[in-house]
Amino acid sequence: MKPKTIIEPFKIKSVEPIRFTTRDEREVLLKDAGYNPFLIHADDVLIDLLTDSGTSAMSAKQWAGIMEGDEAYAGSKSFFRFEAAVKNITHMKYIIPTHQGRAAEKILFSIVGGPGKYFPNNTHFDTTRANIEFSGAEAVDLLNEVGKHPEIRADFKGNMDIEKLEAFIKEKGAENIPLCMITVTNNSGGGQPVSMQNIRETKEVCKKYNIPLFLDACRFAENAYFIKKREKGYADKTPLEIAQEMFSYADGATMSAKKDALVNIGGFLALNDEELATKCRNLLIVTEGFPTYGGLAGRDLEAVAQGLLEVVDENYLEYRIRSVEYLGEKLISLGVPIIEPPGGHAIYIDAKRFLPNIPADQYPGQSIVCELYLEGGVRASEIGSVMFGKYDKNGKLITAMMELVRLAIPRRVYTQSHVDYLIEIIEEVYNNRNKLKGYEIIYEAPILRHFTALFKPLR
Ligand SMILES: *Cc1c(COP(=O)(O)O)cnc(C)c1O
Repeated sequence: MKPKTIIEPFKIKSVEPIRFTTRDEREVLLKDAGYNPFLIHADDVLIDLLTDSGTSAMSAKQWAGIMEGDEAYAGSKSFFRFEAAVKNITHMKYIIPTHQGRAAEKILFSIVGGPGKYFPNNTHFDTTRANIEFSGAEAVDLLNEVGKHPEIRADFKGNMDIEKLEAFIKEKGAENIPLCMITVTNNSGGGQPVSMQNIRETKEVCKKYNIPLFLDACRFAENAYFIKKREKGYADKTPLEIAQEMFSYADGATMSAKKDALVNIGGFLALNDEELATKCRNLLIVTEGFPTYGGLAGRDLEAVAQGLLEVVDENYLEYRIRSVEYLGEKLISLGVPIIEPPGGHAIYIDAKRFLPNIPADQYPGQSIVCELYLEGGVRASEIGSVMFGKYDKNGKLITAMMELVRLAIPRRVYTQSHVDYLIEIIEEVYNNRNKLKGYEIIYEAPILRHFTALFKPLR
């Protein structure tokens, strides 16, 4: 039988119109925003690919849950539904709701972190690193070599380097490593998956030295689907069974529900250690709220519980991973340089290869981001020297390792024709690449400058 087109596994019952603008209007809007798409009003964007975080479309059942939310301060019915949904996937004993992933991180690392402590990970996400460093501890990335090469195609480019991990534990001493993390999928490394074998082997090393293993589980379902498709022995298992096995090797997890729980706000901390859970709950009461709502409304807990059921649906995951892959394939066939293979939640354009004539200190990624907006009202984010650039003692820019443009795909929001339009816009920008100019920064904040920096196009 001829394979059929993979379709959106939903029909649309509520729509949000998007606003069309002309190129002339966008010229003015972009200039007024200081050539920084973060400063453009979302209403002036046609297709918004700034992030996949908190931008999911909720289902009819999730919206029904919003109405059913039990807003009791303590012991709300919605909490127990939420708790059961998280337990079903993680099989962990203590489930602590938080308002975002970073709130779970803040609580966890306030307790286990501190000066002299080390936390290895395949690649720490920015907020995880920030929370570890804020506690005075050190965050260390031990990504497998292949994950560091954007042009190499491999199945599991998010894997931890097991040998480096063991050497690291021996060097720093297990007593100084309160826990080890694995981020699934590896967000900062391009949304690349981690294999079950790698999670298992990481656990074996951790167990040998008595170090708990935690998952940064934001995209656990996307990771489970990659395992199903790519790892031997998993083709006949359901995404839920695979996710359960992933969590079975972990002693705890942090999660941003804004990703694979298909909601607009929420998160949690899942733990097996009773003593640690008690400490976390006590801190939660100070910073987030009572342990049965933790910084969320009862209705949010309902939406997370339902989202966790929907996200492990195989038809959803097939559509999700395939739609990102489809975008990647088309761009590759046009010759547009991207990180290969496509990850789970985003496509990363390699701006260095796209614009070889614009040096890193003239921000080639920013140039592409601006042009995507001008050409088609598309908003993407620069992940390069604007975001990660630093200055040396003499005020000279130290550029980032890579110059990337991220096209993050919101879940269940855009259809294939949106993606086809996006491909046409990128093609147009690529064909005009010799006309693109670099940018200079005319204002920047001392930290996290990419959010508010103002730019000027170079002539
Ligand atoms: C988004 C994210 C976080 C932080 O979650 P927030 O809900 O944004 O606070 C942590 N880790 C990873 C891998 C993420 O993608």
